[in-house]
Amino acid sequence: MPIYAYRCPECDDNFDITKPMALSDSEECCDCGAVMNRDYREERPNAGSIDYAVPKVCESLGITPSQIKDHQRDHPDIRVRGDGALLFDNTKQEDDYYNKRGMYKKPQRQRKYRIRS
Ligand SMILES: [Zn+2]
Repeated sequence: MPIYAYRCPECDDNFDITKPMALSDSEECCDCGAVMNRDYREERPNAGSIDYAVPKVCESLGITPSQIKDHQRDHPDIRVRGDGALLFDNTKQEDDYYNKRGMYKKPQRQRKYRIRS
């Protein structure tokens, strides 16, 4: 059975629901009572503009161009773009970098799961 993703417009709670295709249009209610919306972006995370191919560009962690030299000395394995954005080859490299610098990456919200039959 296919998995459908829903998000509540009231409380922003989210659910993945497995149900028969025949019920794909049936309404799903949140625990708060509101009718939930299909979360198409969650169902097809690759359909948007997100490209999971390497490299992973992290602009929020960017450094100033004057810091690039020092950064390359301290982290020779991390590539830095000319504007200071960091380029990671993969998520593991990115996580290792956070750990090394004592930074904490907020985990993704856990999705709840229901089966409807
Ligand atoms: Zn709700």
